Amino acid sequence: MSIQSINPATEEVLETFEPYSSEQIDEALQQAHTAFSSWRRTSFAERSALFHRLASYLREHKARLARIATLEMGKPIVEAESEVEKCALNCEYYADNAEKFLSPQVLPSNATKSYIAFRPLGVVLALMPWNFPYWQVMRFAAPGLMAGNTAVLKHASNVSQVALEIERMFEACGFPQGVFRTVLVPGAETEALIKDPRIAAVTLTGSEQAGIKVASTSGGEIKKHVLELGGADAYIVLADADLDAAAKTAVQARNQNNGQSCIAAKRFIVVDQVYDAFTEKFVKYTQQLRIGDPLERETKIGPLARKDLRETLEKQVQDSLAQGAKLATGGKRVGDKGYYYEPTILADVTPEMTAFKEETFGPLAAVIRARDAEHAIELANDSIFGLSSNLWTRDLELAQQLAARIEAGGVFINGMTASTPSLPFGGVKHSGYGRELSHFGIQEFVNIQTIWIG
Ligand code: NAP
Repeated sequence: MSIQSINPATEEVLETFEPYSSEQIDEALQQAHTAFSSWRRTSFAERSALFHRLASYLREHKARLARIATLEMGKPIVEAESEVEKCALNCEYYADNAEKFLSPQVLPSNATKSYIAFRPLGVVLALMPWNFPYWQVMRFAAPGLMAGNTAVLKHASNVSQVALEIERMFEACGFPQGVFRTVLVPGAETEALIKDPRIAAVTLTGSEQAGIKVASTSGGEIKKHVLELGGADAYIVLADADLDAAAKTAVQARNQNNGQSCIAAKRFIVVDQVYDAFTEKFVKYTQQLRIGDPLERETKIGPLARKDLRETLEKQVQDSLAQGAKLATGGKRVGDKGYYYEPTILADVTPEMTAFKEETFGPLAAVIRARDAEHAIELANDSIFGLSSNLWTRDLELAQQLAARIEAGGVFINGMTASTPSLPFGGVKHSGYGRELSHFGIQEFVNIQTIWIG
């Protein structure tokens, strides 16, 4: 079956691709495999120069690259431009720090001298999602390649233009042939790729369902893998919080990228004392979001990326309402063309409801009433997911004590979760395992080799 790139704002087919034939896949894998043997021997300085060039390329081509992403998956153009900028920053971060992060470390033992060295693993297969189509790829590729690995990208099928664009940019910046290759393959057909002996390791950013499949195939092959999966992040508001700031940030935290972010706040857990006041502000600021053509700079909410994603979100809203949630705002499609959906808030959500239990991937916020801070933590942890979380209170001492009890890969206090190159990123429970970014990220796809000298 062919792979289609569809503009979610107009439903127009932008381009149709044939999935790669077995010969094309074989060629890409062979190139990446062959390139590894010489790429691993290049110096950090050589790799760093190429990544600095890539950062410049990203900045220079920002407008064009952002437009491709907006047309293919519907994110507001201003956000698409920031995404490209952030990729450039990440390239520079690893260009400047990889050598330090991977420098040999002397460790005491019974040897005359013993130390560890970090060696690359080989070709890493990257299975990536469409929601931050440049960033998710670059978040892995910059550390992965700076460590001396090569990469094969199998991107989400709805962003094939971006996938090919990323391959072209590596080529345009002078990376040796095969160091970064893209293949166009449907998700359901990736098993053979994972099993191919030329693939040394796998990284997936995507849904829990894909995570289960990829983990079992990779595990069956004893191949190292990292899983960055979904989330249902808690956003806890305590009684002494700055309610106005908490409500304004909540709107952004939930609706960034049209609500399609793994680290978007999804479950707003508010203590009883300020529940009504917070909800009122949250609704008011949400209603101010401008919905429209994602290519317009004023637009804050564009369409969802695919038809099926809107249908899933609608069903989650309908199910939650049937289960007793109250519609505080939104709840409808917008216009006749494009996969638009109003930013929606459901109040009085409880743990048995769909909007609490499932990941909601769109502009849908669930507001939940907690008796007190203790109950709020209990509710936050009552989830199969554990990606990030947010906590609003003026009592920073208490915030840090509570953070220690939150089961999530991150706790952002008085702010919204956002990834940044210098801080590790990843989850616990069904949100996955392994970390990206910072020195932890670059150490995922290396052989930590012990050298012992008698
Ligand atoms: P997805 O459907 O799981 O797709 C992710 C990637 O996996 C795509 O390339 C997809 O290819 C592929 N895929 C799908 N089914 C597969 C299978 N059975 N075996 C192997 N690969 C498979 O997820 P998505 O809809 O693109 O992205 C949204 C999800 O990603 C959400 O759950 C979100 O929370 C999560 N996410 C997590 C993070 C994080 O850092 N933790 C960041 C962003 C997004 P096809 O497109 O060809 O199906």
